[in-house]
Amino acid sequence: MTVSRTLTGKHALVTGGGTGIGLAVARALAAQGAQVTITGRRAEVLESVAGENLHAAAMDVTDEAQLKDTISAAVEQRGPVQICIANAGIAEGRALHKTDMEFWRRTMATNLDGAFLTIRESLTSMHQADWGRVIAISSIAGLKGLKGAAAYTASKHGMIGLIRALSEDYLGTPFTFNAVCPGYVDTEIISRNVTSIQERAGISADDARALMVDANKHKRLIHPNEVAQTVLWLCGPGSESINGQAIEIAGGQF
Ligand code: NDP
Repeated sequence: MTVSRTLTGKHALVTGGGTGIGLAVARALAAQGAQVTITGRRAEVLESVAGENLHAAAMDVTDEAQLKDTISAAVEQRGPVQICIANAGIAEGRALHKTDMEFWRRTMATNLDGAFLTIRESLTSMHQADWGRVIAISSIAGLKGLKGAAAYTASKHGMIGLIRALSEDYLGTPFTFNAVCPGYVDTEIISRNVTSIQERAGISADDARALMVDANKHKRLIHPNEVAQTVLWLCGPGSESINGQAIEIAGGQF
């Protein structure tokens, strides 16, 4: 029996593709036949997950020159980027009065500037293919204020603004631009947040984790594959009319 793989022949770029949500997305795209370039700062992490259809390329999304070089090398090897997943991000909650310029700039540089540069550089090559899907991994914090996380919330709102503007710029073309907005997903970011909430609030790790479970309306953490399946749908046949949307994956927050 021939298994139809809907993304065969397409080149996908997934920033932060070596871990968590990015890795789940990259694997889902690769399973559908896409050649997937996965990036992140830690080469050893990328190499440990690289394999069939998954190609490691270390880069820091905050370094414009490195990002340009890495994407153009990937384009040379695998053709124009047709699927761009702007996923690399950092998530640290910090009260505004403790948010210094260094922390604010680091959050913006990674989450928002990183998405902007990734999408801009991918689009240059996407024009050659005359077909493209751009998806930003924003957050529920892109749709509503997240208590104690002003910088993160602002950066994730900014990603949705970027996507909405681009969907207007490219209206009526074979390119679509969407954001997905997960609630708490079970990844390394959650483990790091558990530790930081635990330290800040002086509560146990179990209680800190329970706070996050409780914030998702269906009272469980989301699996990275749930986000990956939504992204896959946005890249596959049948979702051509979905454009400029910010799709909540959080058990029904609104
Ligand atoms: P991870 O920490 O597993 O993933 C973050 C990824 O981003 C890592 O692979 C990391 O790789 C990469 N990254 C971070 N900084 C940079 C940088 N400067 N340059 C290049 N790559 C970088 O957590 P998640 O999978 O959970 O997070 C992925 C995205 O999903 C983030 O944007 C996050 O905000 C978002 N999100 C997560 C939620 C959750 O509950 N987990 C909820 C909503 C949104 P490396 O360290 O090697 O650079």
